[in-house]
Amino acid sequence: AKTLGKGQYHLFDPTMHAAAVQALQLENDLRKAIHQEEFVVHYQPIISLSTGKITGFEALVRWQHPSRGTVSPALFIPLAEETGLINSIGKLVLSLACHQIQEWYQKKLIDESIFMSVNISARQFAQLDIVEQIDQIVAETQINPQCLKLEITESAFINNAQSAKAILQALRQRQIQLSIDDFGTGYSSLSYLHNFPVDTLKVDRSFVSKLDGTLESLGLIPAIKKIAETMKMSVVAEGIETEKQLAQLRELNCEFGQGYFFAKPLPKKEATELIVASPKW
Ligand code: C2E
Ligand code: CA
Ligand code: CA
Ligand code: CA
Repeated sequence: AKTLGKGQYHLFDPTMHAAAVQALQLENDLRKAIHQEEFVVHYQPIISLSTGKITGFEALVRWQHPSRGTVSPALFIPLAEETGLINSIGKLVLSLACHQIQEWYQKKLIDESIFMSVNISARQFAQLDIVEQIDQIVAETQINPQCLKLEITESAFINNAQSAKAILQALRQRQIQLSIDDFGTGYSSLSYLHNFPVDTLKVDRSFVSKLDGTLESLGLIPAIKKIAETMKMSVVAEGIETEKQLAQLRELNCEFGQGYFFAKPLPKKEATELIVASPKW
């Protein structure tokens, strides 16, 4: 091994080799998973902080791997983005989530004021036929398009502002709502907010988890709230875990909240039971 250059030595580094094999294995498994329908969607309630009642749900994908068990999206979403597999997974999630909200609506468990929020990755958003895909699912499930909310991160605008604008205007025409996910964690300027029809800003969990009752712990949250007010957008605070955090967000008049304090993302059956129980926080 001594005669090899530094780079080549690294090539045979057993830990790196193992990691590369693992990534390749995961990619193969991911391809199979799409055909074998190993993905399910869990639903986390979003609460209106003024009424304390459920006002919507966020759809979050789960991969039920036959031998690894449930694989976290934090592990496979980045790989799915890299390989483009996110396009098929994302379409599936959108379809399952729209079917679910329609089922709840038809069983009269919810009314049309309850929305379903679905994550759309930047790569998925850049597909030429993304609007047609959405149209097709809306037509197939017969949901009211106003009940559908798409969660997009700032990165979806940045690389392709021109086509992003056209897509967002098409969605607006259909009255589909739009949230900016992980707002404030990116590095973009705020100017895009003027140009795009955005309804909601989602405050990332990294901001909310810092809240400890003190004024300083609010950090950027009051500024985000102010931006939203000026632009006539609403704010969802994600990752609320404690009563104290909830109280602090209520004091700021933050409209919506989501987090383990209320409920974790739940499988279809438990989410339905929660709706029936109609909790008030
Ligand atoms: P995200 O969109 O920011 O979703 C919120 C994440 O925070 C979810 O993690 C949720 O389970 C978690 N969470 C919610 N409340 C709490 C809390 O009180 N405490 C803690 N510790 N965590 C909380 P999850 O489901 O593991 O998803 C991670 C990320 O994976 C998501 O972050 C999103 O970026 C991505 N993701 C998940 N499902 C999808 C999907 O269907 N499509 C796409 N493109 N991305 C997805
Ligand atoms: Ca999200
Ligand atoms: Ca995210
Ligand atoms: Ca987040």
